[in-house]
Amino acid sequence: MKKNWKRLLSLALAGVMCLALAACGSDEPAPTGGGDPAGTNTAQTGDLPADVQAIVDRGVLRVGVKTDVPGFGYQDVLTEEYSGMEIDLAHKIAETLGLSDVEFTAVTAATRGQLLDSGDIDMVIATFTINDERKESWNFTTPYYTDAVSLLVKTDSGIAGYADLDGKMIGVSTGSTSMEALIAAAAENGITLTKEANFSEYATYPEIKTALDAGRVDAFCVDGSILSGYLDDSVVLLDSVRFSPQEYGIATKLDNTGLAGYLDELVNTWLGDGTIDQMIADNGVAASFEG
Ligand code: GLU
Repeated sequence: MKKNWKRLLSLALAGVMCLALAACGSDEPAPTGGGDPAGTNTAQTGDLPADVQAIVDRGVLRVGVKTDVPGFGYQDVLTEEYSGMEIDLAHKIAETLGLSDVEFTAVTAATRGQLLDSGDIDMVIATFTINDERKESWNFTTPYYTDAVSLLVKTDSGIAGYADLDGKMIGVSTGSTSMEALIAAAAENGITLTKEANFSEYATYPEIKTALDAGRVDAFCVDGSILSGYLDDSVVLLDSVRFSPQEYGIATKLDNTGLAGYLDELVNTWLGDGTIDQMIADNGVAASFEG
């Protein structure tokens, strides 16, 4: 009888421990401080912000990612598998929340904001540059990576720098920072480019590459990370023309302030402990642009 009592007690204790672990949702403690100065919003205590708890209760994290940016967000056409540091970040966030399921949605520069606003996705981790204008529409975490804008041109184009862009047509993506960044950088180098005379806007990057191949545009302008996905024998990335630092942040819907603070804490923790550097290295991504 006494023995049974002991067994029952140890089983009960084991049960309590299991419940406590399940409440943590992960064997890795969530960070405190940062976006949660009171230190109450941690997965450890189970006292998550309501918008984070809603994701945990749903059991799946929904993330908007790029599918055509090698090293960042890429989907293999044959296997349909996702890879890249932004994919790793999404998995790490899910793991911290105790979720094994991540549902990826393909986004472009033109669609990612709308998909956040409509509530179709919880967050965007998709080479999304933080700027003041965008901060009025969405929350952004501390940057996890900094890239620079560059140009992809035909190998035999003769374009080597800003001066060669005079009178040329440049392909950019709708909804991206690229056109404004190039107009400003060219102006600093004495070259005037205008939206009307020098730019063609496209919905997707493959369309810009096709336009470059067909000679409808003379250059393809966007972040170097994105351009690297379109390198082939006929084109070259202008290493000497790198401008306008692009700081990438994880974006959330403006009223998801609890989630925004939670993600900001995670990013800061992972910047501090080398996790993000490891993701950069694991995915063969160049170190952040230093300007
Ligand atoms: N990173 C730039 C932006 O957010 C380029 C566009 C893109 O990310 O697709 O505008």
